[in-house]
Amino acid sequence: MTIYANPGTDGSKVTFKPRYEHFIGGEWVAPVKGQYFENPTPITGQTFTEVGRGTPEDIEAALDAAHAAAPAWGRTSPAERAVILNKIADRMEANLEMLAVAETWDNGKAVRETLNADIPLAIDHFRYFAGTIRAQEGSLSQIDEDTVAYHYHEPLGVVGQIIPWNFPILMAVWKLAPALAAGNAVVLKPAEQTPASILVLAELIGDLLPGGVLNIVNGFGLEAGKPLASNKRIRKIAFTGETTTGRLIMQYASENLIPVTLELGGKSPNIFFEDVMASDDSYWDKAQEGFTLFALNQGEVCTCPSRSLVQESIADSFLDAVVERARAIVQGNPLDTDTQMGAQASNDQLEKIKSYLDIGRQEGAEVLLGGEQAHLDGDLAGGYYVQPTIFRGNNSMRVFQEEIFGPVVSVATFKDFDDAMTIANDTLYGLGAGVWSRNGNTAYRAGRAIQAGRVWVNNYHAYPAHAAFGGYKSSGIGRENHKMMLDHYQQTKNLLVSY
Ligand code: NAD
Repeated sequence: MTIYANPGTDGSKVTFKPRYEHFIGGEWVAPVKGQYFENPTPITGQTFTEVGRGTPEDIEAALDAAHAAAPAWGRTSPAERAVILNKIADRMEANLEMLAVAETWDNGKAVRETLNADIPLAIDHFRYFAGTIRAQEGSLSQIDEDTVAYHYHEPLGVVGQIIPWNFPILMAVWKLAPALAAGNAVVLKPAEQTPASILVLAELIGDLLPGGVLNIVNGFGLEAGKPLASNKRIRKIAFTGETTTGRLIMQYASENLIPVTLELGGKSPNIFFEDVMASDDSYWDKAQEGFTLFALNQGEVCTCPSRSLVQESIADSFLDAVVERARAIVQGNPLDTDTQMGAQASNDQLEKIKSYLDIGRQEGAEVLLGGEQAHLDGDLAGGYYVQPTIFRGNNSMRVFQEEIFGPVVSVATFKDFDDAMTIANDTLYGLGAGVWSRNGNTAYRAGRAIQAGRVWVNNYHAYPAHAAFGGYKSSGIGRENHKMMLDHYQQTKNLLVSY
Protein backbone atom coordinates (compact mmCIF):
# COMPACT_ATOMS: atom_id res chain seq x y z
CA MET A 1 0.00 0.00 0.00
CA THR A 2 1.25 3.48 -0.88
CA ILE A 3 -0.46 6.71 0.05
CA TYR A 4 0.82 9.51 -2.16
CA ALA A 5 1.28 12.87 -0.44
CA ASN A 6 -1.19 15.63 -1.29
CA PRO A 7 0.23 18.09 -3.83
CA GLY A 8 1.61 21.10 -2.01
CA THR A 9 2.79 19.00 0.97
CA ASP A 10 6.19 17.45 1.71
CA GLY A 11 7.15 14.53 -0.50
CA SER A 12 4.47 15.13 -3.12
CA LYS A 13 5.16 13.83 -6.63
CA VAL A 14 3.65 16.89 -8.30
CA THR A 15 3.68 20.62 -7.70
CA PHE A 16 0.92 22.65 -9.29
CA LYS A 17 1.54 26.30 -10.07
CA PRO A 18 -0.80 28.61 -8.14
CA ARG A 19 -2.03 29.97 -11.46
CA TYR A 20 -2.05 28.60 -15.03
CA GLU A 21 -2.30 30.62 -18.22
CA HIS A 22 -3.15 29.30 -21.68
CA PHE A 23 -0.50 27.37 -23.63
CA ILE A 24 -0.27 29.13 -26.99
CA GLY A 25 2.56 29.08 -29.54
CA GLY A 26 4.79 27.14 -27.15
CA GLU A 27 4.48 29.86 -24.46
CA TRP A 28 2.34 30.48 -21.39
CA VAL A 29 0.06 33.35 -22.35
CA ALA A 30 -2.24 35.29 -20.00
CA PRO A 31 -5.92 35.40 -20.99
CA VAL A 32 -6.67 38.54 -23.02
CA LYS A 33 -9.40 39.62 -20.60
CA GLY A 34 -7.22 38.78 -17.57
CA GLN A 35 -9.80 36.55 -15.90
CA TYR A 36 -9.15 33.26 -14.07
CA PHE A 37 -11.36 30.57 -12.54
CA GLU A 38 -10.80 28.36 -9.51
CA ASN A 39 -9.94 24.67 -9.82
CA PRO A 40 -10.85 22.60 -6.72
CA THR A 41 -9.77 19.03 -6.09
CA PRO A 42 -12.78 16.70 -5.69
CA ILE A 43 -10.78 14.83 -3.05
CA THR A 44 -11.21 17.56 -0.42
CA GLY A 45 -13.24 20.23 -2.19
CA GLN A 46 -10.37 22.75 -1.71
CA THR A 47 -9.18 25.01 -4.54
CA PHE A 48 -5.55 24.24 -5.43
CA THR A 49 -4.94 26.43 -8.47
CA GLU A 50 -6.62 28.93 -10.74
CA VAL A 51 -6.74 28.75 -14.49
CA GLY A 52 -7.06 31.29 -17.32
CA ARG A 53 -10.68 31.82 -18.35
CA GLY A 54 -10.66 31.72 -22.14
CA THR A 55 -12.72 33.99 -24.37
CA PRO A 56 -13.06 34.28 -28.17
CA GLU A 57 -9.97 36.54 -28.19
CA ASP A 58 -7.84 33.75 -26.66
CA ILE A 59 -9.18 31.25 -29.19
CA GLU A 60 -8.21 33.64 -32.01
CA ALA A 61 -4.69 34.00 -30.54
CA ALA A 62 -4.37 30.20 -30.38
CA LEU A 63 -5.61 29.87 -33.96
CA ASP A 64 -3.05 32.49 -35.10
CA ALA A 65 -0.30 30.40 -33.52
CA ALA A 66 -1.68 27.15 -34.95
CA HIS A 67 -1.97 28.59 -38.46
CA ALA A 68 1.58 29.93 -38.27
CA ALA A 69 2.89 26.48 -37.28
CA ALA A 70 0.70 24.20 -39.40
CA PRO A 71 2.39 24.49 -42.85
CA ALA A 72 5.89 23.54 -41.65
CA TRP A 73 4.57 20.82 -39.33
CA GLY A 74 2.44 19.41 -42.14
CA ARG A 75 5.54 19.15 -44.35
CA THR A 76 7.54 17.09 -41.83
CA SER A 77 7.88 13.44 -42.76
CA PRO A 78 5.91 10.76 -40.94
CA ALA A 79 9.23 9.47 -39.60
CA GLU A 80 10.12 12.86 -38.09
CA ARG A 81 6.74 13.15 -36.44
CA ALA A 82 7.00 9.58 -35.15
CA VAL A 83 10.31 10.42 -33.45
CA ILE A 84 8.65 13.32 -31.62
CA LEU A 85 5.61 11.27 -30.59
CA ASN A 86 7.88 8.56 -29.22
CA LYS A 87 9.86 11.17 -27.26
CA ILE A 88 6.60 12.44 -25.77
CA ALA A 89 5.72 8.88 -24.76
CA ASP A 90 9.17 8.32 -23.22
CA ARG A 91 8.98 11.52 -21.20
CA MET A 92 5.51 10.64 -19.95
CA GLU A 93 6.71 7.21 -18.95
CA ALA A 94 9.65 8.67 -17.05
CA ASN A 95 7.16 10.87 -15.16
CA LEU A 96 4.34 8.35 -14.81
CA GLU A 97 3.81 8.74 -11.05
CA MET A 98 3.85 12.54 -11.31
CA LEU A 99 1.18 12.49 -14.05
CA ALA A 100 -0.87 9.86 -12.23
CA VAL A 101 -0.97 11.89 -9.02
CA ALA A 102 -1.76 15.10 -10.94
CA GLU A 103 -4.66 13.36 -12.70
CA THR A 104 -5.99 11.90 -9.47
CA TRP A 105 -5.78 15.23 -7.66
CA ASP A 106 -7.54 17.10 -10.45
CA ASN A 107 -10.27 14.53 -11.17
CA GLY A 108 -10.72 12.57 -7.92
CA LYS A 109 -10.24 9.13 -9.50
CA ALA A 110 -8.31 6.38 -7.70
CA VAL A 111 -4.55 6.57 -8.21
CA ARG A 112 -4.37 2.81 -8.85
CA GLU A 113 -6.33 3.57 -12.05
CA THR A 114 -4.23 6.52 -13.16
CA LEU A 115 -1.01 4.57 -12.45
CA ASN A 116 -2.08 1.34 -14.11
CA ALA A 117 -4.53 2.41 -16.80
CA ASP A 118 -5.06 6.08 -17.68
CA ILE A 119 -1.45 7.21 -18.01
CA PRO A 120 -0.01 3.94 -19.45
CA LEU A 121 -2.83 3.89 -22.04
CA ALA A 122 -2.10 7.51 -22.95
CA ILE A 123 1.59 6.68 -23.39
CA ASP A 124 0.73 3.72 -25.57
CA HIS A 125 -1.49 5.91 -27.75
CA PHE A 126 1.43 8.13 -28.65
CA ARG A 127 3.56 5.05 -29.43
CA TYR A 128 0.78 3.40 -31.42
CA PHE A 129 0.20 6.43 -33.65
CA ALA A 130 3.95 6.97 -34.03
CA GLY A 131 4.13 3.45 -35.47
CA THR A 132 0.94 3.74 -37.46
CA ILE A 133 1.87 6.94 -39.25
CA ARG A 134 5.17 5.43 -40.36
CA ALA A 135 3.42 2.36 -41.70
CA GLN A 136 0.81 4.33 -43.63
CA GLU A 137 1.22 4.10 -47.38
CA GLY A 138 -0.21 5.98 -50.32
CA SER A 139 -1.46 4.21 -53.42
CA LEU A 140 -1.05 4.26 -57.15
CA SER A 141 -3.59 3.08 -59.72
CA GLN A 142 -2.84 2.72 -63.38
CA ILE A 143 -5.80 4.26 -65.24
CA ASP A 144 -4.65 3.49 -68.79
CA GLU A 145 -1.46 3.12 -70.72
CA ASP A 146 -0.54 6.80 -70.23
CA THR A 147 -2.32 7.86 -67.06
CA VAL A 148 -1.68 7.15 -63.39
CA ALA A 149 -3.68 8.11 -60.26
CA TYR A 150 -1.51 8.83 -57.22
CA HIS A 151 -3.19 9.05 -53.81
CA TYR A 152 -1.49 10.99 -51.03
CA HIS A 153 -2.45 11.61 -47.40
CA GLU A 154 -2.38 15.27 -46.43
CA PRO A 155 -3.09 16.78 -43.01
CA LEU A 156 -6.29 18.80 -42.66
CA GLY A 157 -4.34 21.78 -41.29
CA VAL A 158 -5.62 23.32 -38.05
CA VAL A 159 -8.12 21.30 -36.03
CA GLY A 160 -10.15 22.00 -32.88
CA GLN A 161 -10.62 19.51 -30.06
CA ILE A 162 -12.93 19.73 -27.04
CA ILE A 163 -12.86 17.17 -24.24
CA PRO A 164 -14.74 16.26 -21.03
CA TRP A 165 -13.57 15.86 -17.44
CA ASN A 166 -13.86 12.14 -16.80
CA PHE A 167 -10.45 11.04 -18.18
CA PRO A 168 -8.74 14.41 -18.74
CA ILE A 169 -5.28 13.25 -19.88
CA LEU A 170 -6.47 10.13 -21.70
CA MET A 171 -9.25 11.96 -23.58
CA ALA A 172 -6.76 14.66 -24.59
CA VAL A 173 -4.26 12.08 -25.82
CA TRP A 174 -6.88 10.03 -27.71
CA LYS A 175 -7.40 13.15 -29.79
CA LEU A 176 -3.90 14.62 -29.86
CA ALA A 177 -1.92 11.52 -30.83
CA PRO A 178 -3.64 10.81 -34.19
CA ALA A 179 -4.07 14.52 -35.04
CA LEU A 180 -0.40 15.29 -34.46
CA ALA A 181 0.78 12.07 -36.11
CA ALA A 182 -1.20 13.03 -39.22
CA GLY A 183 0.57 16.42 -39.31
CA ASN A 184 -2.12 18.78 -37.99
CA ALA A 185 -1.78 21.72 -35.61
CA VAL A 186 -4.25 21.61 -32.74
CA VAL A 187 -6.21 23.97 -30.50
CA LEU A 188 -7.52 21.94 -27.56
CA LYS A 189 -10.04 23.06 -24.96
CA PRO A 190 -10.06 20.93 -21.78
CA ALA A 191 -13.11 20.70 -19.55
CA GLU A 192 -13.46 23.54 -17.05
CA GLN A 193 -13.79 21.03 -14.18
CA THR A 194 -10.38 19.40 -14.82
CA PRO A 195 -7.94 21.68 -16.64
CA ALA A 196 -4.89 21.34 -14.38
CA SER A 197 -3.53 17.88 -15.14
CA ILE A 198 -3.52 18.59 -18.88
CA LEU A 199 -1.59 21.78 -18.19
CA VAL A 200 0.93 19.75 -16.19
CA LEU A 201 1.24 17.48 -19.22
CA ALA A 202 1.77 20.53 -21.46
CA GLU A 203 4.55 21.75 -19.12
CA LEU A 204 6.16 18.32 -19.36
CA ILE A 205 6.07 17.76 -23.12
CA GLY A 206 5.48 21.23 -24.62
CA ASP A 207 9.11 21.77 -25.64
CA LEU A 208 9.17 18.57 -27.74
CA LEU A 209 6.80 20.03 -30.35
CA PRO A 210 7.44 23.10 -32.51
CA GLY A 211 5.71 26.15 -30.99
CA GLY A 212 2.10 26.49 -32.17
CA VAL A 213 1.58 22.83 -33.08
CA LEU A 214 -0.16 22.22 -29.73
CA ASN A 215 -2.22 25.02 -28.19
CA ILE A 216 -4.41 24.75 -25.10
CA VAL A 217 -7.05 27.32 -24.25
CA ASN A 218 -8.98 26.78 -21.03
CA GLY A 219 -12.39 27.99 -20.13
CA PHE A 220 -16.10 27.28 -20.21
CA GLY A 221 -18.27 25.80 -22.95
CA LEU A 222 -19.99 28.89 -24.26
CA GLU A 223 -17.08 31.28 -23.64
CA ALA A 224 -14.23 29.22 -25.12
CA GLY A 225 -15.68 25.99 -26.54
CA LYS A 226 -18.26 27.55 -28.85
CA PRO A 227 -15.86 30.16 -30.32
CA LEU A 228 -13.51 27.28 -31.15
CA ALA A 229 -16.09 24.80 -32.50
CA SER A 230 -17.85 27.44 -34.61
CA ASN A 231 -14.68 29.07 -35.90
CA LYS A 232 -14.15 29.41 -39.63
CA ARG A 233 -10.40 28.85 -39.22
CA ILE A 234 -10.59 25.19 -38.17
CA ARG A 235 -10.79 22.34 -40.66
CA LYS A 236 -12.33 19.83 -38.24
CA ILE A 237 -13.83 19.69 -34.78
CA ALA A 238 -13.43 16.61 -32.61
CA PHE A 239 -15.63 16.53 -29.53
CA THR A 240 -16.19 14.24 -26.58
CA GLY A 241 -18.95 15.07 -24.14
CA GLU A 242 -22.68 14.95 -23.66
CA THR A 243 -25.08 14.09 -26.45
CA THR A 244 -26.91 17.43 -26.04
CA THR A 245 -23.64 19.35 -26.48
CA GLY A 246 -22.72 17.11 -29.42
CA ARG A 247 -25.85 18.26 -31.26
CA LEU A 248 -24.75 21.89 -30.85
CA ILE A 249 -21.23 21.09 -32.05
CA MET A 250 -22.67 19.53 -35.19
CA GLN A 251 -24.82 22.62 -35.82
CA TYR A 252 -21.78 24.89 -35.54
CA ALA A 253 -19.77 22.63 -37.82
CA SER A 254 -22.54 22.54 -40.42
CA GLU A 255 -22.24 26.33 -40.83
CA ASN A 256 -18.61 25.89 -41.83
CA LEU A 257 -19.11 22.56 -43.57
CA ILE A 258 -16.33 20.86 -41.66
CA PRO A 259 -16.17 17.25 -40.47
CA VAL A 260 -16.97 16.31 -36.88
CA THR A 261 -16.03 13.42 -34.67
CA LEU A 262 -18.53 13.08 -31.85
CA GLU A 263 -17.92 10.74 -28.91
CA LEU A 264 -21.05 11.14 -26.79
CA GLY A 265 -23.02 9.54 -24.00
CA GLY A 266 -24.05 5.96 -23.31
CA LYS A 267 -26.25 3.66 -21.25
CA SER A 268 -24.40 0.44 -21.84
CA PRO A 269 -26.02 -2.95 -21.20
CA ASN A 270 -23.93 -5.65 -19.53
CA ILE A 271 -25.65 -8.98 -20.23
CA PHE A 272 -25.23 -12.10 -18.13
CA PHE A 273 -26.59 -15.37 -19.58
CA GLU A 274 -27.52 -18.22 -17.23
CA ASP A 275 -24.39 -20.27 -17.93
CA VAL A 276 -22.08 -17.71 -16.27
CA MET A 277 -22.61 -19.06 -12.76
CA ALA A 278 -20.61 -21.85 -11.18
CA SER A 279 -19.88 -22.72 -7.59
CA ASP A 280 -16.27 -21.72 -7.94
CA ASP A 281 -14.28 -21.14 -11.08
CA SER A 282 -12.22 -18.38 -12.65
CA TYR A 283 -14.79 -17.57 -15.37
CA TRP A 284 -17.53 -16.93 -12.81
CA ASP A 285 -15.07 -14.86 -10.79
CA LYS A 286 -14.27 -12.76 -13.88
CA ALA A 287 -17.97 -12.31 -14.67
CA GLN A 288 -18.68 -11.02 -11.15
CA GLU A 289 -15.77 -8.63 -11.49
CA GLY A 290 -17.25 -7.54 -14.83
CA PHE A 291 -20.49 -6.65 -13.07
CA THR A 292 -18.72 -4.48 -10.47
CA LEU A 293 -17.06 -2.37 -13.18
CA PHE A 294 -20.07 -0.04 -13.01
CA ALA A 295 -18.09 1.57 -10.17
CA LEU A 296 -14.83 1.90 -12.12
CA ASN A 297 -13.82 5.56 -12.29
CA GLN A 298 -16.77 6.23 -9.93
CA GLY A 299 -19.06 5.34 -12.85
CA GLU A 300 -17.88 8.41 -14.76
CA VAL A 301 -17.21 6.45 -17.91
CA CYS A 302 -19.11 6.90 -21.15
CA THR A 303 -19.27 3.11 -21.44
CA CYS A 304 -20.14 2.54 -17.78
CA PRO A 305 -22.04 -0.80 -17.68
CA SER A 306 -24.90 1.08 -16.09
CA ARG A 307 -27.64 -1.39 -17.11
CA SER A 308 -27.04 -4.99 -16.09
CA LEU A 309 -29.35 -7.55 -17.69
CA VAL A 310 -29.46 -10.92 -15.95
CA GLN A 311 -31.23 -14.07 -17.14
CA GLU A 312 -34.30 -14.71 -14.97
CA SER A 313 -33.36 -18.31 -14.15
CA ILE A 314 -30.26 -17.19 -12.19
CA ALA A 315 -31.31 -13.68 -11.09
CA ASP A 316 -31.63 -14.14 -7.34
CA SER A 317 -28.47 -16.11 -6.71
CA PHE A 318 -26.54 -14.01 -9.24
CA LEU A 319 -27.59 -10.81 -7.46
CA ASP A 320 -26.76 -12.19 -4.02
CA ALA A 321 -23.23 -12.86 -5.22
CA VAL A 322 -22.59 -9.60 -7.07
CA VAL A 323 -24.10 -7.40 -4.36
CA GLU A 324 -21.61 -8.93 -1.91
CA ARG A 325 -18.82 -8.37 -4.42
CA ALA A 326 -19.82 -4.72 -4.88
CA ARG A 327 -20.14 -4.21 -1.11
CA ALA A 328 -16.44 -5.06 -0.85
CA ILE A 329 -15.36 -2.23 -3.19
CA VAL A 330 -12.87 -0.14 -1.24
CA GLN A 331 -13.83 3.52 -1.21
CA GLY A 332 -11.50 6.06 0.31
CA ASN A 333 -8.62 8.46 -0.26
CA PRO A 334 -8.00 8.41 -4.03
CA LEU A 335 -4.26 8.86 -3.41
CA ASP A 336 -4.11 5.51 -1.55
CA THR A 337 -3.22 2.67 -3.93
CA ASP A 338 -5.61 0.36 -2.03
CA THR A 339 -8.58 2.59 -2.88
CA GLN A 340 -10.76 1.26 -5.70
CA MET A 341 -13.32 4.06 -5.80
CA GLY A 342 -12.46 7.71 -5.32
CA ALA A 343 -14.38 10.98 -5.56
CA GLN A 344 -16.84 12.19 -8.20
CA ALA A 345 -15.20 14.82 -10.38
CA SER A 346 -17.20 17.85 -9.24
CA ASN A 347 -19.83 19.03 -6.80
CA ASP A 348 -22.27 19.49 -9.71
CA GLN A 349 -21.77 15.86 -10.67
CA LEU A 350 -22.28 14.76 -7.06
CA GLU A 351 -25.57 16.67 -6.96
CA LYS A 352 -26.68 15.20 -10.30
CA ILE A 353 -26.02 11.65 -9.09
CA LYS A 354 -27.85 12.30 -5.81
CA SER A 355 -30.87 13.52 -7.77
CA TYR A 356 -30.90 10.23 -9.73
CA LEU A 357 -30.67 8.25 -6.49
CA ASP A 358 -33.88 10.01 -5.47
CA ILE A 359 -35.46 9.48 -8.90
CA GLY A 360 -34.71 5.75 -8.77
CA ARG A 361 -36.37 5.38 -5.38
CA GLN A 362 -39.36 7.52 -6.42
CA GLU A 363 -40.02 5.44 -9.51
CA GLY A 364 -39.99 2.27 -7.44
CA ALA A 365 -36.59 0.75 -8.13
CA GLU A 366 -35.46 -1.54 -5.33
CA VAL A 367 -32.17 -0.45 -3.72
CA LEU A 368 -29.97 -3.55 -3.38
CA LEU A 369 -26.87 -1.63 -2.31
CA GLY A 370 -25.89 1.94 -1.42
CA GLY A 371 -28.20 4.67 -2.62
CA GLU A 372 -26.67 7.58 -0.70
CA GLN A 373 -23.88 10.11 -0.72
CA ALA A 374 -20.82 8.68 1.08
CA HIS A 375 -19.42 10.75 3.96
CA LEU A 376 -15.71 10.22 4.49
CA ASP A 377 -13.70 11.49 7.45
CA GLY A 378 -10.95 14.00 8.06
CA ASP A 379 -9.60 15.94 5.07
CA LEU A 380 -11.92 13.99 2.79
CA ALA A 381 -15.07 15.28 4.51
CA GLY A 382 -15.43 18.12 1.98
CA GLY A 383 -14.93 15.84 -1.04
CA TYR A 384 -17.54 14.48 -3.44
CA TYR A 385 -18.22 10.81 -2.66
CA VAL A 386 -21.13 8.49 -3.51
CA GLN A 387 -21.80 4.92 -2.35
CA PRO A 388 -21.70 2.23 -5.05
CA THR A 389 -25.37 1.73 -5.79
CA ILE A 390 -27.37 -1.16 -7.26
CA PHE A 391 -30.99 -0.63 -8.29
CA ARG A 392 -33.32 -3.41 -9.42
CA GLY A 393 -36.18 -2.37 -11.68
CA ASN A 394 -37.24 -2.36 -15.31
CA ASN A 395 -35.89 -0.84 -18.47
CA SER A 396 -38.60 1.80 -18.80
CA MET A 397 -37.43 3.60 -15.64
CA ARG A 398 -35.41 6.79 -15.95
CA VAL A 399 -32.50 5.20 -14.10
CA PHE A 400 -32.31 2.69 -16.98
CA GLN A 401 -32.74 5.23 -19.77
CA GLU A 402 -30.80 8.34 -18.71
CA GLU A 403 -27.06 8.69 -18.28
CA ILE A 404 -26.31 9.15 -14.57
CA PHE A 405 -22.53 9.10 -14.89
CA GLY A 406 -22.03 7.83 -11.36
CA PRO A 407 -21.35 4.50 -9.57
CA VAL A 408 -24.93 3.37 -10.13
CA VAL A 409 -26.09 0.22 -11.94
CA SER A 410 -29.71 -0.57 -12.73
CA VAL A 411 -30.46 -4.30 -12.99
CA ALA A 412 -33.31 -5.90 -14.95
CA THR A 413 -33.98 -9.52 -15.83
CA PHE A 414 -34.66 -11.16 -19.20
CA LYS A 415 -36.25 -14.46 -20.24
CA ASP A 416 -34.28 -15.58 -23.25
CA PHE A 417 -31.85 -14.43 -25.94
CA ASP A 418 -34.39 -12.41 -27.94
CA ASP A 419 -35.74 -10.73 -24.84
CA ALA A 420 -32.18 -9.76 -23.83
CA MET A 421 -31.48 -8.22 -27.23
CA THR A 422 -34.78 -6.28 -27.18
CA ILE A 423 -34.03 -4.76 -23.77
CA ALA A 424 -30.37 -4.12 -24.62
CA ASN A 425 -31.31 -2.17 -27.76
CA ASP A 426 -34.19 -0.30 -26.13
CA THR A 427 -32.12 2.84 -25.55
CA LEU A 428 -31.23 6.06 -27.35
CA TYR A 429 -27.58 5.16 -27.03
CA GLY A 430 -25.25 2.68 -28.69
CA LEU A 431 -21.75 3.13 -27.33
CA GLY A 432 -20.65 0.08 -25.34
CA ALA A 433 -22.06 -3.26 -24.23
CA GLY A 434 -20.92 -6.39 -22.44
CA VAL A 435 -21.86 -10.00 -23.09
CA TRP A 436 -21.06 -12.82 -20.69
CA SER A 437 -21.65 -16.41 -21.73
CA ARG A 438 -19.51 -19.54 -21.79
CA ASN A 439 -21.31 -20.52 -24.98
CA GLY A 440 -19.34 -19.06 -27.89
CA ASN A 441 -22.34 -19.17 -30.20
CA THR A 442 -24.59 -17.23 -27.79
CA ALA A 443 -21.85 -14.70 -27.10
CA TYR A 444 -21.07 -14.18 -30.79
CA ARG A 445 -24.73 -13.79 -31.82
CA ALA A 446 -25.35 -11.32 -28.99
CA GLY A 447 -22.23 -9.35 -29.92
CA ARG A 448 -23.52 -8.97 -33.48
CA ALA A 449 -27.12 -8.18 -32.50
CA ILE A 450 -26.42 -5.39 -30.02
CA GLN A 451 -26.48 -1.96 -31.63
CA ALA A 452 -23.30 -0.55 -30.14
CA GLY A 453 -19.90 0.40 -31.52
CA ARG A 454 -17.98 -1.61 -28.93
CA VAL A 455 -19.16 -4.93 -27.49
CA TRP A 456 -16.90 -6.55 -24.94
CA VAL A 457 -17.40 -10.32 -24.97
CA ASN A 458 -16.35 -12.07 -21.76
CA ASN A 459 -14.43 -9.00 -20.64
CA TYR A 460 -15.25 -5.34 -20.08
CA HIS A 461 -13.57 -1.93 -20.08
CA ALA A 462 -10.40 -2.78 -21.99
CA TYR A 463 -9.25 0.07 -24.27
CA PRO A 464 -6.36 -1.03 -26.47
CA ALA A 465 -5.13 1.66 -28.87
CA HIS A 466 -5.63 -0.59 -31.89
CA ALA A 467 -9.35 -1.39 -31.33
CA ALA A 468 -11.82 1.03 -32.94
CA PHE A 469 -14.08 2.81 -30.50
CA GLY A 470 -17.19 4.92 -31.08
CA GLY A 471 -20.95 5.12 -30.99
CA TYR A 472 -24.05 3.99 -32.82
CA LYS A 473 -27.29 6.00 -32.57
CA SER A 474 -27.10 9.03 -30.20
CA SER A 475 -23.68 7.97 -28.91
CA GLY A 476 -21.78 9.64 -31.69
CA ILE A 477 -20.32 9.86 -35.15
CA GLY A 478 -16.96 8.52 -36.20
CA ARG A 479 -14.43 6.39 -34.37
CA GLU A 480 -11.41 6.93 -32.17
CA ASN A 481 -8.36 4.73 -31.63
CA HIS A 482 -7.24 2.23 -34.30
CA LYS A 483 -5.31 3.29 -37.39
CA MET A 484 -8.60 4.16 -39.14
CA MET A 485 -8.49 7.27 -36.95
CA LEU A 486 -5.85 8.76 -39.24
CA ASP A 487 -8.51 9.03 -41.95
CA HIS A 488 -10.42 11.39 -39.66
CA TYR A 489 -7.43 13.76 -39.57
CA GLN A 490 -6.27 13.62 -43.18
CA GLN A 491 -7.46 14.51 -46.65
CA THR A 492 -6.79 12.35 -49.65
CA LYS A 493 -5.06 14.16 -52.49
CA ASN A 494 -5.38 12.52 -55.88
CA LEU A 495 -2.99 13.46 -58.68
CA LEU A 496 -4.22 12.14 -62.01
CA VAL A 497 -1.16 12.31 -64.22
CA SER A 498 -0.80 11.64 -67.92
CA TYR A 499 2.73 10.89 -69.08
P1 NAD B 1 -20.22 18.35 -21.72
O1 NAD B 1 -20.82 18.15 -23.07
O2 NAD B 1 -20.95 19.14 -20.72
O3 NAD B 1 -18.82 19.10 -21.86
C1 NAD B 1 -17.78 18.56 -22.66
C2 NAD B 1 -16.91 19.69 -23.15
O4 NAD B 1 -17.68 20.52 -24.02
C3 NAD B 1 -16.36 20.60 -22.06
O5 NAD B 1 -15.04 20.95 -22.39
C4 NAD B 1 -17.28 21.82 -22.14
O6 NAD B 1 -16.68 23.02 -21.70
C5 NAD B 1 -17.55 21.88 -23.63
N1 NAD B 1 -18.79 22.55 -24.02
C6 NAD B 1 -19.95 22.64 -23.32
N2 NAD B 1 -20.86 23.35 -24.04
C7 NAD B 1 -20.28 23.70 -25.20
C8 NAD B 1 -20.71 24.42 -26.35
N3 NAD B 1 -21.93 24.94 -26.44
N4 NAD B 1 -19.84 24.58 -27.37
C9 NAD B 1 -18.59 24.05 -27.30
N5 NAD B 1 -18.12 23.38 -26.23
C10 NAD B 1 -18.96 23.19 -25.20
O7 NAD B 1 -19.84 16.91 -21.19
P2 NAD B 1 -19.16 16.53 -19.79
O8 NAD B 1 -20.21 16.63 -18.73
O9 NAD B 1 -17.89 17.29 -19.62
O10 NAD B 1 -18.74 15.02 -20.03
C11 NAD B 1 -19.54 13.94 -19.74
C12 NAD B 1 -20.11 13.37 -21.01
O11 NAD B 1 -19.06 12.95 -21.88
C13 NAD B 1 -20.95 12.14 -20.77
O12 NAD B 1 -22.13 12.24 -21.52
C14 NAD B 1 -20.09 11.01 -21.31
O13 NAD B 1 -20.80 9.88 -21.72
C15 NAD B 1 -19.37 11.67 -22.42
N6 NAD B 1 -18.15 10.95 -22.77
C16 NAD B 1 -18.12 10.24 -23.95
C17 NAD B 1 -16.98 9.53 -24.29
C18 NAD B 1 -16.92 8.75 -25.57
O14 NAD B 1 -15.85 8.39 -25.97
N7 NAD B 1 -18.05 8.50 -26.23
C19 NAD B 1 -15.87 9.53 -23.45
C20 NAD B 1 -15.93 10.26 -22.28
C21 NAD B 1 -17.09 10.97 -21.95
